[in-house]
Amino acid sequence: MSATGILLCAGGSTRMGFDKLMTPVSGKCAIARSAEALIAGGVTEIVFAVSERTRAFCEALPLSVPKTLVQGGAERRDSVRNAIAAATGDILVIHDAARCLVSPAIVRSSIASAEQYGNGVVALSVTDTVFLSEDGKLTRLPREKLLRMQTPQTFRKAEIAEAYRNTAPEAAEATDDCTLYALAGYVPHFVAGSEDNFKLTTPADFARAERYFTRYGTGFDTHRLVEGRKLILGGVDIPYEKGLLGHSDADVLTHAVMDALLGAAGLPDIGHLFPDTDPAFKDADSMVLLGKVVAAVAEKGLRPATVSAEIIAQRPKLAPHLPGMKRRFAEVLGIPEEDIALAATTTEGMNDEGRGLCISAQAVASAR
Ligand code: MG
Repeated sequence: MSATGILLCAGGSTRMGFDKLMTPVSGKCAIARSAEALIAGGVTEIVFAVSERTRAFCEALPLSVPKTLVQGGAERRDSVRNAIAAATGDILVIHDAARCLVSPAIVRSSIASAEQYGNGVVALSVTDTVFLSEDGKLTRLPREKLLRMQTPQTFRKAEIAEAYRNTAPEAAEATDDCTLYALAGYVPHFVAGSEDNFKLTTPADFARAERYFTRYGTGFDTHRLVEGRKLILGGVDIPYEKGLLGHSDADVLTHAVMDALLGAAGLPDIGHLFPDTDPAFKDADSMVLLGKVVAAVAEKGLRPATVSAEIIAQRPKLAPHLPGMKRRFAEVLGIPEEDIALAATTTEGMNDEGRGLCISAQAVASAR
């Protein structure tokens, strides 16, 4: 049996003051993430129910399966009804685009359930104690009988189409597909959802979703120590008899941090961004270059989240300068100092760093 994904992208997104379905969550918006999860879970076609706001985005979204766009309605059920009419699959996987953390595994099990039982409705059991609070009176509800409905809700097309033809008054009250399906006399078959499959509703949900999509990168750099150059590390001028040789200010620590951030964003390294053959970067302040890296990362819909870096140098003593470096990074990266960890180590006289020939630095950065 073939499965069509019905992706509901017409919902009122104005509650948050911005369009929650098209705002990047770690570089990719909810509509794109939901569509990808549906495809990875086995749908071979997607029907998008769109609003005037989301239409152009859905039209342009590149997909590996055929797509159709239908106009969403004033109510969710109007959108679903329009999408059902346009769908060609035997099984319809109806999903709210705002649940963009749905896993392909959940999509697959709801399709498998629909193949076997006629439907697969994703729901969660309740683990908290739940009270009904009415007129100052509390009644404890039997949580073992309660379900929290999620999506996708997946049905054989003929049956859900029939359920949507119901024009009875109780059908007009239904806020999800499962309710209409049950009103038509069918028995819902529940499939285990996940706490991760939550709906983007509030700005706090965005912060929560972004934590799932944190990306990491690593960076490393080495510069030669020579006489007649300033020693600049983490944007701080450090008094020393030697400095680092390089085309820019040779701030090895900042270079490692830049490469780590670029890596987290899946971008090419600093050599690509700021070639040392370009006179524009001669003696460049690496903190200014870091600002440009933050802007490039922002272009990908990402922001720096954390940085952890270590300088490898035999001399001079760097510990007193680390707080100053941290302040500079916090300013330029736009993150709190507590999300930046800086350390310095010697190599106990071994290696080129230990012999005072060079200073190196390595960094790990995350972005989301
Ligand atoms: Mg360098």
